[in-house]
Amino acid sequence: MSSARRLMATMSNNWSLKNGLSLWCPQSTSLNRLPRQSSVPSRSFRRSYTVLSSSFANENREYVIVGGGNAAGYAARTFVEHGMANGKLCIVSKEAYAPYERPALTKGYLFPSDKKPARLPGFHTCVGSGGERQTSEWYKEQGIEMLYEDPVTGIDIEKQTLTTNSGKLLKYGTLIISTGCTASRFPEKIGGKLLGVHYIRDVADADSLIASLEKARKVVVVGGGYIGMEVAAAAVGWKLDTTVIFPEDHLLQRLFTPSLARKYEELYQENGVKFMKGVSIENLEAGSDGRVAAVKLGNGSTIDADTIIIGIGAKPAVSPFESVGLNTTVGGIQVDGQFRTSIPGIFAIGDVAAFPLKMYNRIARVEHVDHARRSAQHCIKALLSSQTHTYDYLPYFYSRVFEYEGSPRKVWWQFFGDNVGETIEIGNFDPKITTFWMDAGKLKGVLLESGSPEEFQLLPKLARSQPFLDKAKLKNATSVEEALEVARAALQDEAAV
Ligand SMILES: Cc1cc2nc3c(=O)[nH]c(=O)nc-3n(C[C@H](O)[C@H](O)[C@H](O)COP(=O)(O)OP(=O)(O)OC[C@H]3O[C@@H](n4cnc5c(N)ncnc54)[C@H](O)[C@@H]3O)c2cc1C
Repeated sequence: MSSARRLMATMSNNWSLKNGLSLWCPQSTSLNRLPRQSSVPSRSFRRSYTVLSSSFANENREYVIVGGGNAAGYAARTFVEHGMANGKLCIVSKEAYAPYERPALTKGYLFPSDKKPARLPGFHTCVGSGGERQTSEWYKEQGIEMLYEDPVTGIDIEKQTLTTNSGKLLKYGTLIISTGCTASRFPEKIGGKLLGVHYIRDVADADSLIASLEKARKVVVVGGGYIGMEVAAAAVGWKLDTTVIFPEDHLLQRLFTPSLARKYEELYQENGVKFMKGVSIENLEAGSDGRVAAVKLGNGSTIDADTIIIGIGAKPAVSPFESVGLNTTVGGIQVDGQFRTSIPGIFAIGDVAAFPLKMYNRIARVEHVDHARRSAQHCIKALLSSQTHTYDYLPYFYSRVFEYEGSPRKVWWQFFGDNVGETIEIGNFDPKITTFWMDAGKLKGVLLESGSPEEFQLLPKLARSQPFLDKAKLKNATSVEEALEVARAALQDEAAV
């Protein structure tokens, strides 16, 4: 088996909701700003440490966050809300920008230039949940030290020090790891590093992709997950010849039923996108100019392409923190329900954390912005206040595609819960559709496409309460509205008991 085929097969196997959850969640409408609280530093998590200065004149930092992404932005906000940021908090980032809402990179950021693309500083955290836009000036004003473009390369747990790429030695009192994930790549030997081959994880990646799209004619998207679906929809906006290739039978196999996927695939096809399903890739081929020119498939055939976007999943960015304690089942850094690692004073949040998913009694990693925000807030509140309760996350995924101006139809969906058991689908895709997952008579998960805000608000209540549903009644519903009414009534009946 070639390395590309092996990689795609592994991705396919790993794409289980039971393990690393890498579907994407909607922006939370319920994440209100936390009230300002008096700070009661929790002694049990703090390590022996003396703050010598509040101006970082020395190499001691009381709190250090490694990683300047989504979770870091929300963590910084929580530090500020507790009055514990000024002169105490340092964020060490690999990127050149203050934390931003990463999901924008495959949505508004990729709109063609005449369709008002999103650009920084427009989408710095915490705008995604209706919060303040925390630009680099905001961090300065809050007395938060930001070290940009200087990734941490080493940790000495005994001495409580971090080493950065530029050679800085940072002493920390409490460490919060929020290094997220890195995009999985095709190996160099099969063309994974050719010019014109793109991965998308940060602004620099997105800028490089846009530079290619500006000259592109034939685009191939590898992967039928979220990145693939969102990038293919963006390529339609650029009016490019677009083909999506993936090894599974249908789009978003981890979540969508075959029936739901078919409806999405038809929508993409109506927009000119071609699909090659159940297909493996042998290698990417270069043209005489050294740029990518074609994709060679496992069956020996080739497809011409001048721009290739690979969206085959991501891996937790655990290096250089492996000594902190890794989870061998779901990857990432193992934490408890308050995001504490096995080492006192070291925490992990966001994509990189392997945490107890209390609702379903299993350990999970969740690669979604909603979890990044909530885990950051939960962890920092537990660290700085008397909060002791366990994180209780309800899995929640979403996507929005074809959102640019002039698009024939914007589509968006949300899913809450667990996609286990049998499915019941109600409604036509246009204008809306819903799928219920039921197990032993109980509702376990629910997906809604193009719902109203009120309908979307019902979904988390259903998924959390898991009411018993009358299957026959649900199946007989003649519209999405009627099906949701059946579910709402079941919820109310159970609440009344
Ligand atoms: C293109 C794209 C689109 C997405 N769309 C959606 C979506 O629609 N909905 C959704 O729910 N989720 C989406 N996600 C996932 C979501 O963005 C992540 O779950 C979220 O960003 C996780 O936050 P985080 O802080 O854990 O990691 P990140 O936001 O990835 O931040 C990690 C940061 O750490 C830095 N870093 C890594 N290693 C080091 C080091 N050694 N030293 C210093 N810094 C380091 C990285 O450069 C990065 O800046 C998307 C992700 C991507 C890449």
